[in-house]
Amino acid sequence: MSLLPEELFQMALNVRDPWFIEKIDFTPDKKRLDIWIDFIPGSRFDCPDCHNPDCAPYDTSEKIWRHLNFFQFKTYLHCRVPRVECKKCGIKQMDVPWAREQSGFTLWMDALIVLLARKMTISAIAEHIDEQDTRIWRVIKYYVEEARSRQDLSSVISIGIDETACTRGHQYISLVVNLDNSKVIHISKGKDASVVSSFKKDFSEHKGKPENVHRFCCDMSPAFIKGIEENFPAASITFDKFHVMKIMNEAVDEVRREEQSVNQLLRKTRYIWLKNPENLTEKQLNELGSLKDMNLKTGRAYNLKMSLAGFWNHYNPEVAASYLKRWYFWATHSRLTPVINAAKSMKRHWGGILNYIDSRISNGVLEGINSIVQSLKASARGYRNTSNFMTMIYLRCGDLHFTLPT
Ligand SMILES: [Zn+2]
Repeated sequence: MSLLPEELFQMALNVRDPWFIEKIDFTPDKKRLDIWIDFIPGSRFDCPDCHNPDCAPYDTSEKIWRHLNFFQFKTYLHCRVPRVECKKCGIKQMDVPWAREQSGFTLWMDALIVLLARKMTISAIAEHIDEQDTRIWRVIKYYVEEARSRQDLSSVISIGIDETACTRGHQYISLVVNLDNSKVIHISKGKDASVVSSFKKDFSEHKGKPENVHRFCCDMSPAFIKGIEENFPAASITFDKFHVMKIMNEAVDEVRREEQSVNQLLRKTRYIWLKNPENLTEKQLNELGSLKDMNLKTGRAYNLKMSLAGFWNHYNPEVAASYLKRWYFWATHSRLTPVINAAKSMKRHWGGILNYIDSRISNGVLEGINSIVQSLKASARGYRNTSNFMTMIYLRCGDLHFTLPT
């Protein structure tokens, strides 16, 4: 069996009745392949609205779509696309099976762009396929929005929320994550209480059931707490243990800085006190050991930090509560002002810290997501606005299933 090139491309492009490939124009010196598609004269079309099968073409207009390269040659499809006359609906623009409405790319090209965007920056894709990045953004946005519109969040019960610095300046965005699968389900501009109400609205629009959300994990920011209490009154809040430890670490660091001004031995020891012991080198561990023997204020603050770290390993709520109470007594009697302040801040958030013992949730996964977000940001000279940046986070960190229109 031998096929004409037209027949071969017809099969490869899945062009079917009433469409056919009329001609192919290959111009190697212009590095182009042009394929003209037409419809069989006398064809009848289905009305795009009411599917009435007997609509005659009314008029046509020429359209061009960029298709996947044919080897190194840029490939374009051309077609005169009809408007049809439906007896019920009037004059209607026909869709074509190889491209989305209003799109200048074929569906194969769309699929390639979405696939590449999972690993490449938009500016790299733009360079690779030699197109303007604005055209590529339009494709990505369409598919992300389309996939989000089909998202079913009805089984989400456990939620983490955290803010992260945005593309430029002091702008923030807040990420809302399904803690059961570590996927971003909502992104909001800002980091105030309205983040939670905007999440609730969006969540409900995606089949989420606010009354089924049992647990939130967040830092101790009053805005998130207020937002959660107002919008999800039945949910319990667990304060993220990494944020709690961060507050304690900052207290240790403050004690060290003050003490360092009168004790030269503490110079260049910052990370020894801040890192977890298992992440220290042997040399650093030895240094830590000898410093700890010297009855330094920093050493006492450090011991309080390590003792607080032990809290999270408890499973029995009563034992954990009395452990934290004893720790609080010890911390507030340490005569170390930064530690006392940290302990008092924890006292104000007591219930949400204790909730960890039962809920076992933390925003640890958000740290991982945040590092993806920050790497997107670093490679993101090409983000023209925050909305593009958010689209990219949904693409890389969301739980989206992309489908091509049929
Ligand atoms: Zn119709």
